[in-house]
Amino acid sequence: MYHISDLKKYLRCERLYFYSRDESSSYRPYLRSDKNIIDLLTSYFGFTNYFEGIRNDPTDRFFNEMYNYEWYIHPRFMDGEMRINIPFMHRLENGSFDLCFVYYNTFIKELDLITYRTSVKVLERLGLRVNDIYIVYFNENYVNEGTIDVQQLFVCTEKYQKRKIIDIVREKDFDYDYLINEMSDFSIEKNKAKKCRYCKLNGLCEYYDKCFPDEMKDPDDSILSLVSSKNKNKMYQNGIRTLKDADPKWLEGNKVQYAQIMASRNGGLFLDRLALGEWLKKLDYRPISFIDFEWDRYLVPEYYKMKPMDVICFEFALYYIDKKGHMEHRTFVGTGDCRKEFVEALIEYLPEKGPILAYNAIGAEVLRLRELADIYPEYNSKLKKIIARFIDLAEPFSEGLVYDVRMQGNFTLKKLVDICSDYSYKDLDIYDGMEAVFNWRDIEKADNEEGNKIVENLKEYCSLDAYGLFLVYRWLIKLMIGSK
Ligand code: SF4
Repeated sequence: MYHISDLKKYLRCERLYFYSRDESSSYRPYLRSDKNIIDLLTSYFGFTNYFEGIRNDPTDRFFNEMYNYEWYIHPRFMDGEMRINIPFMHRLENGSFDLCFVYYNTFIKELDLITYRTSVKVLERLGLRVNDIYIVYFNENYVNEGTIDVQQLFVCTEKYQKRKIIDIVREKDFDYDYLINEMSDFSIEKNKAKKCRYCKLNGLCEYYDKCFPDEMKDPDDSILSLVSSKNKNKMYQNGIRTLKDADPKWLEGNKVQYAQIMASRNGGLFLDRLALGEWLKKLDYRPISFIDFEWDRYLVPEYYKMKPMDVICFEFALYYIDKKGHMEHRTFVGTGDCRKEFVEALIEYLPEKGPILAYNAIGAEVLRLRELADIYPEYNSKLKKIIARFIDLAEPFSEGLVYDVRMQGNFTLKKLVDICSDYSYKDLDIYDGMEAVFNWRDIEKADNEEGNKIVENLKEYCSLDAYGLFLVYRWLIKLMIGSK
């Protein structure tokens, strides 16, 4: 039996589907929604009498009940090996059906045509007529003014880029029979791994070493670590193995690529001394603060003044070095709607002056503070003064002032901490940002003891991020001193 998600995974990468198909999935959504979206949508459509499909329903269950209802939630259907489930179906007077799919965003980035085409085909093969397709998504301008107004929260459309979605769907056939045959015949031994965009899309694919075992033996300055490069795979296939041997005609020639190639030629490290020295002067002030935030993103705006996809900052960890050179450490972890406490703790704990370092500060901490300044006008002026003090520690790396081949093309704070210290996230119970979010979500369900343990783990994780900023800052200074 196959689901649409199997087809999509296989089309992304055959081997990815093959390797992951037997793994039990403990999927946890990146977007938080404490409210059940289907319940909210049921209120939005305004029906009370409906058929509700359940897991493993045989197709017959729908057909046995078809004339008893006008609305259907998650009815299940099977055509041969293909199994589908439609979020909402509405039976019209002429006996045909409107289908409604949910898009979990505030705009339709692109149509999920595989899902729509497969669904229409399965239904029509079973003798059902599809009249129209609707997509419901979230209204980006909706603001929670105290309670959730479902009529304002959702937008329902039958059009995409001014065309009817059903017309776009009917334009092409999607042959899932052919695909299912191919999937069932697929053999990992017979199909050699080919590079695709998913191999390194969000970090390295977890099966990369299985697919490309020889590459794992490549050196730190492998040509494959070249950033923003369209041609690195081509160079690799042409026998170019290291950055120092990169072919100039295949380079885009940006400053980070330059830093990478120079590091490879210089024995592992590139430093633009002059530019880095100028940059470090901005930090020649005490107190100096190092801060990291954690937040959760809400699909449904649960709290006052939130919009769909807004975030709640639930934690920060701060280290600062005062004028006497002492290092101080502060943390905050809130629960529920802790936005105001977060702001108040931040204002209380941060030194009143001096630079504040964060990693990717502009798109992260600074953005979060701007949002909070809008929500709490009483703190607007204080927060804007704090924002003006932020300096992005990612800048020396993203601007090509420093490159160490041990970064292997990875510009994350975790990688830098790994290179410049003995600290390791691997030793922590919470070891990355999404784990922190999932753990935070669990606090409300936990008993006191478990809740306290989660808070301690969250503090440890976020504090290592904040301390990591200090470690990287100290490393940059050492590199400057060492290069004199
Ligand atoms: S490493 Fe690349 S080819 Fe291998 S499974 Fe992952 S995405 Fe597919």
